[in-house]
Amino acid sequence: MRAASELTEERSAAPGLGFPTLAGPATSPLGWPGIDAVSRETVIEDAEPRPPATADEPEAFAQVPEVVTPTARTGATEDDRIPTTTVPPAPADRGDTTPEEHPTPVDDDVAERAQIAAAMPGADHHTPLAAAVAEDARKRITLAGRSVPRPDRTRVLTVANQKGGVGKTTTTVNIAAALAQAGSTVLVIDLDPQGNASTALGIEHHAEVPSVYDVLVEGTAIADVVQTCPDIARLWCVPATIDLAGAEIELVSLVARETRLEKAVHAFVDEREAAGERIDYVLIDCPPSLGLLTVNAFVAASEVFIPIQCEYYALEGLSQLLKNIELIRNHLNKKLHVSTILLTMYDGRTRLSAQVADEVREHFPDQTLRASVPRSVRISEAPSHGQTVMTYDPNSSGALSYLEAAVELAERGVATRRTSEESA
Ligand code: ADP
Ligand code: MG
Repeated sequence: MRAASELTEERSAAPGLGFPTLAGPATSPLGWPGIDAVSRETVIEDAEPRPPATADEPEAFAQVPEVVTPTARTGATEDDRIPTTTVPPAPADRGDTTPEEHPTPVDDDVAERAQIAAAMPGADHHTPLAAAVAEDARKRITLAGRSVPRPDRTRVLTVANQKGGVGKTTTTVNIAAALAQAGSTVLVIDLDPQGNASTALGIEHHAEVPSVYDVLVEGTAIADVVQTCPDIARLWCVPATIDLAGAEIELVSLVARETRLEKAVHAFVDEREAAGERIDYVLIDCPPSLGLLTVNAFVAASEVFIPIQCEYYALEGLSQLLKNIELIRNHLNKKLHVSTILLTMYDGRTRLSAQVADEVREHFPDQTLRASVPRSVRISEAPSHGQTVMTYDPNSSGALSYLEAAVELAERGVATRRTSEESA
């Protein structure tokens, strides 16, 4: 066992953020001592949770406080509340967005909100509390009345990163909840024996409950094991129970062991489509390993969604993940690609978070979402109440960030499809 001081020395000596295996020498030494002097505990949390949304008010938009919403929504029809125009995100303080990148909004209110948001102060690391409050206000303003396009065919995303504790499960359930609240139909497949996604969605998953184990090992149809999320309409979940812990080994001797989840997902999606209820998104929450369960998820999906924690060594092992994705693409699923990267547990008060974020954006400029998720106590509290932060505290900075990320994910899917159709 090595002493902590030895490890610290080793870290200080490591160049940059552990990128060398990916793209040559990294650029920035990290200066651990200075960073360690700053507490990483987030102190900024919003006021009391708002009451739940009313039946005629979509939850995703109900969370925006009336005080910052120029359009009175009371009595509005569904179409009034969800305009077909989209608001361009306000330029972030990073300066990496330009007005030309976004379409000009045609709706006056929407344009006005974009202007107000653009005029908000950017993050100032000398006054982190004020910056965080300003950032939340900017998000509320830009997200108000924002339309969330539904894809015209089912998007299957595998949320993967072989590191544990980077926010895979948190990202899966909150993005799924945000998309469902905004009107999409979403299926979450919990593929981690710990069953954390099932817990966070308030889904029963004790040992006797039919689960994804039955789907993978027994060949049971997803329709026979799927449950609906009690808090959010249009959000479904295939739970994981402790049985799944043995599935890695049991799968080894089964026929078509890598494609069992894919078959089940496609059968379910087709069946729902035939019944007139298209599933817009399937999000698969992977375990922190690259075994047969994760391979099944990669074969079932066409997109990989990688959450990256804004911490030291965040990118360690990422090259292994990318190599595995390449292997799957070459042998089992040529559609598979990394479509989305989300920076999680971002702490605006540390230079470390900003450095990790900058390096990730530099290496994956097209995949990394502009939205990032801050470290937030509300996000980590929500699962113990069997909820996502989207219902537990929809007005919190964590919920706003996940909503922002979900909107971006949805819009990018539509934009990517248009581009590929045009070039076809
Ligand atoms: P993974 O699925 O990759 O193992 P989790 O999503 O379970 O990671 O997250 C690991 C831990 O970090 C959990 O306790 C979770 O509540 C917490 N967590 C995740 N995202 C955040 C965040 N943005 N702020 C605070 N805590 C977070
Ligand atoms: Mg997990």
